This record gives sequence, structure tokens and C-alpha cells, in this order.
Amino acid sequence: MKRGFTTTILHSDLESPIEHYAVHKPMHAAVAYGYPDARELAKVFKGEAPGYVYGRQGNPTTAALEAKISKMEDGIATASFSTGMAAIAATFIALLRTGDHVVSSSFLFGNTNSLFGTLSTLGCEISYVDATRVENVARAIRPDTRLVFVETIANPCTQIADLARIGELCASRGLLYIVDNTMTSPYLYRPKQNRAGLIINSLTKYIGGHGNALGGAVTDTGLYDWTRFPNIYDNYKTANAAQWGILQIRKKGLRDVGGTLAAEVAHRLATGAETLALRMERASANALQLARFFARHPKVKKVYYPGLEDHPQHQLAGELFKTYGALMSIELADGIDCFDFLNRLKLVISSSHLGDNRTLAIPIAHTIYWEMGPERRAEMGIVDSLVRLSIGIEDSDDLVGDFQQALSG
Ligand SMILES: *Cc1c(COP(=O)(O)O)cnc(C)c1O
Repeated sequence: MKRGFTTTILHSDLESPIEHYAVHKPMHAAVAYGYPDARELAKVFKGEAPGYVYGRQGNPTTAALEAKISKMEDGIATASFSTGMAAIAATFIALLRTGDHVVSSSFLFGNTNSLFGTLSTLGCEISYVDATRVENVARAIRPDTRLVFVETIANPCTQIADLARIGELCASRGLLYIVDNTMTSPYLYRPKQNRAGLIINSLTKYIGGHGNALGGAVTDTGLYDWTRFPNIYDNYKTANAAQWGILQIRKKGLRDVGGTLAAEVAHRLATGAETLALRMERASANALQLARFFARHPKVKKVYYPGLEDHPQHQLAGELFKTYGALMSIELADGIDCFDFLNRLKLVISSSHLGDNRTLAIPIAHTIYWEMGPERRAEMGIVDSLVRLSIGIEDSDDLVGDFQQALSG
């Protein structure tokens, strides 16, 4: 019988024997691995035998976490990294060459947007499109397009990419489709069901969940035919073509760049991951309740949350995701100073993070989007009173009470 999501995560380490019958994979902090038979060492180096050679390319603890992420995403292989940004940067550096074209959603995590700016100075061209409609993606595709990149629920205004139709489009064109699944997590959504070839997760957010560890991962779903990808180096064209992509990402992205996840951190993330489903259910339920509360509140002008009927992709979100997630933004009514509002909150923390167990709030225009200037902010609909909320797992009455008192102050 196929096991459920949480059972699978809890028992995934035990699928291979664990030293001393430990119930989960211990921390392996060793940097180097000594082989009694030097021929065996050479085999591992050549990829002819499984094993570890040097800590920059991973260790048994990161491998156990990678196996867990693969299970969550129903993938064939995962490479882990020190942060989500390291995972994204490594993937693009490993797979792109000068002159390549990328089609990307214009609703992007700010640092990904900045990274794409860097890639464009290195000779890659990025076309940004409104990915809530597949036609816009289709129109941007060119003969030199190597891949299409989207996020699931965009931050801060919660636009939802046309994930299923973009997947169909990429499959029909033989294009690599990469989905950043951070905001939904594999519990709410599995991009493989919509034919994604690679999936990126920032483990720092919901998968780790406790705000105590940074990490990132790239998972290959096995759906993309790497023999169609022109940028695979000959020495990574091994017998099994399904492994070409992840092998090149491991070698060129992880080994050469060195954004390696430490064993101690991998262990912390793996522990956090055990309760992903429970936390997502609770945080999403809190978020839906709060969104409805804000929608009725006279001091809130606008609420961005996919679970509300007036959200432009409300129906799409219902079809694609298990819940509507735990991220929302609110625009305060005229005359309310967002800093005064935030300072009146007693429980909710003013912080730039998201996906934490604790509820966090941030005035977007004055922090994360400050650098881009007022004109670009206006284009993106980011007004000065916009506050992004990452809803946590607190008791819902306490959250409603805190926002209630802060809004009536
Ligand atoms: C946070 C985030 C990242 C980057 O992850 P880090 O672990 O902070 O580097 C990438 N994509 C999305 C959608 C994110 O929210």
C-alpha cells in the first residue's frame, strides 16, 4: 500500500540500514573519507561505485535529507544546497551558457530577480512575462529558449502561475520547465503533476519551518528528457540519461561553486520536515480565518490571499493546491501608518522571513522592495501601506486578537 505523506517522511531514513539501529540518520560531520582499498576510492571518484569523497559534494546526512525531499516531490534525485538561493544559482550556472534565452515569470522572489539580472550581464537573456496566463509564456518562447521558470504563489501579491497549462506548453515544445515550489511546499502542491522537470525548494521556509536553519534543494522529477538539452557536457552523459541533469548540477553547481549544506543543518531541516503537513494545515487554516477577518475589517483596504473568492486566481488555486497557503498581504486603509500598526502588534513579529512557525509581518515597500524605487514599486502594485504576513501556527484566536487590537489602535 502506498503510504501517506507524513508516514513516508517519518520513515524514509529507515529504508536503508542506519548505524547502531538509530531511528533517523545521524549527523556525519567528517569532511574526508578514507578508503582501505585505493581502487575503491578511484571507483567512487569516477562515479562507478556509490560513496563519498569530500564533504563539499555532500555527506550521508545530506543524502538522507535529499532522499526525503525526493520522496516529498515524487522525484528521482535531489541535490541539496546551503540556501535556496544557492540552489537556484547553481542550477542556472550549471545549465545555461552564453547566448541562451530564459522565459521567467515577472512575479519573482526579489533575490531571484537580482540573480537573473546578473545572468543577463553574463550573456543570458531573460524575458519576463505575466505567467498567470499561459499565452504570455507561449509568446515569449524562441528557438534559443532553454527553459521556463516560474514560482507557484508569488510574493507579496500572491499571483498564481498558470502552472498546469505552462507544463503542457513546455512538454509540447520539449522545453525544460523549472518550478520554485517554496511558497506552496510539496505538501500543498507537487509540480510533477503538471510536468515540471526540475523543482526548487528553499528548505529555509516551510520544509524546515522553525526559522533555525538555511537550506535549498533541486529535485529532478524524471520527466524531462535530458538527451534533448543541448548544454550537457560529454563527461556527464552517463549510461542513464535520466541522471544527466542532476549530475551536471551536482558537479558544476554544487562541487564547483561550493554552496554545500552542512550535516548539522541538514539534520535540523530533516527534523523540521517531519511535521511539514501538520504545520501547513494549521498555518493555512489560520491564514484563511485571518484573510476573512481582514476582508471584513474597515481599516483594511485590500487583502491579497488566494483563498478569498475575489482573488483573480481563486479557482485555479483551489484546483492546484491542497490549501491556499499561509502567505498574504494587506493594504491598510488611508491614514493608517504601517509602522504604527506593526509596532502595536504584541504577538506578531516584524521580520523579513516567511514560512516560520511564528507569524511574521513586514512593510514591503520600505524594506524588501525599497531598493527598486517608487516607479517600479507602483508598476508592481506595491503601495506604501502594504504589509506582507507570513502566518504561523499560533492559536488562531490569539492571532485574530492581536490584529484586532493593532487595527483599532
Ligand atoms: C526565500 C525564497 C528563496 C530563497 O531561499 P533562501 O533559503 O532564503 O536562500 C527562493 N525562492 C522563494 C520563492 C523564496 O521565498
